Amino acid sequence: MRFDVAVIGGGPSGAVAAAELARAGIPTVLIERNLDHVKPCGGAIPLGLIEEFGIPGELVEKKLSHMRARSPKGRIIEMNMPNGYVGMVRREKFDRYLRSEAERAGAVIVEGLVNTIRRSSFGFTISTLNDKVPPIEAHYIIGADGANSKTADELRFPPNELKVIAMQQRFKYTPELEQFRDIVEIWFDGEVSPDFYGWIFPKADHLAIGTGTEDRRHSIKELQKRFIEKIGITEAPYLDEAAKIPMKPRKSFTAEGAILVGDAAGLVTPANGEGIFFAMRSGKLAAQAMIGHLKHAEPLENYETGFRKLYAPIFFGLEVLQYVYYRNDRLRESFVAICADDDVQQITFDSYLYKKMVPAPWSTQMKIFSKNIYHLVKGS
Ligand SMILES: Cc1cc2nc3c(=O)[nH]c(=O)nc-3n(C[C@H](O)[C@H](O)[C@H](O)COP(=O)(O)OP(=O)(O)OC[C@H]3O[C@@H](n4cnc5c(N)ncnc54)[C@H](O)[C@@H]3O)c2cc1C
Repeated sequence: MRFDVAVIGGGPSGAVAAAELARAGIPTVLIERNLDHVKPCGGAIPLGLIEEFGIPGELVEKKLSHMRARSPKGRIIEMNMPNGYVGMVRREKFDRYLRSEAERAGAVIVEGLVNTIRRSSFGFTISTLNDKVPPIEAHYIIGADGANSKTADELRFPPNELKVIAMQQRFKYTPELEQFRDIVEIWFDGEVSPDFYGWIFPKADHLAIGTGTEDRRHSIKELQKRFIEKIGITEAPYLDEAAKIPMKPRKSFTAEGAILVGDAAGLVTPANGEGIFFAMRSGKLAAQAMIGHLKHAEPLENYETGFRKLYAPIFFGLEVLQYVYYRNDRLRESFVAICADDDVQQITFDSYLYKKMVPAPWSTQMKIFSKNIYHLVKGS
């Protein structure tokens, strides 16, 4: 089987890349190890993504504009998003839909675990562990195979350095859990996570509750158990899921004839662990760069340069925020206190919804700056 482009991995990044390429008339194969795979994920996506990719309404189970941040001492800050919402999707349906869009656009979908990738005179030869799939040849490769990317290993990309281990459990609604049905709750609490946060995300028929840490001295199972106890849940979950979140872009995610997208490239923002938006945006930008390369001999590197230009400030800002405020409970207490400020909330939500750094008026910036200094000094 021969194609211009092979996309390895059929999650959001790979499915979007394959759809974009196929729409441009480029012979494309999408190789997914398991078409029934359910990616462990909270499934929270911003309004901007829903609009840009035309996500059908029935896939967005909840549209939540009400949030709650909880500090280590139990202080609760209520927040409202007047101009938008966080959408909740279920990855088993969401990924299937995105792959079906790629297929509809003309991409060939193949099921098989990619085992080896060799450079050849054609470009690349890809073998899977599925006996029924013959070796696949492609001029170019897009590696969209997640945090433990086989593509990156085989083609010797620089390592994915920073990986949070995250665990999530799903609980059916009970009368006690009804209170969480229409609100996103975030816990900043060292007992729940020493360097990240815990989340309670409501779905149509269950709550997804999880936490994460990159500190290997802590057992993720223990942190999750403590979180569930603190919430006061006594019922057993009906599903446990866990996976890594790579929260630092690789030093480089473009090589000769091959590019990485989404988690494979490490494109999840620090502090909030948001990856679906960046997976889909990087898939789209990668495909556009590939189309420019194939049709107009433009450099493939345009993809990485373009991505960094658009999003490096957001990654940097959130890295600083996580470094400064997630270090201990006193600082986390200060962080939650800052979230009470209306201007902070507005800037945060405006930036989250459309991933644009929204410049605030000078006077507001000064006010927020002074509050930060006050709370930092207090927290330290
Ligand atoms: C517990 C948890 C909660 C999260 N919550 C959120 C959230 O609420 N919001 C958010 O925005 N992000 C969240 N994330 C991050 C988000 O899930 C990822 O950033 C996103 O899924 C990345 O998409 P992707 O397509 O790059 O990779 P993935 O979704 O990981 O898809 C990779 C695909 O490649 C396939 N694959 C892997 N290896 C091979 C191989 N060798 N051959 C063929 N196929 C292969 C896999 O089966 C998979 O389908 C969360 C992550 C975790 C772990």
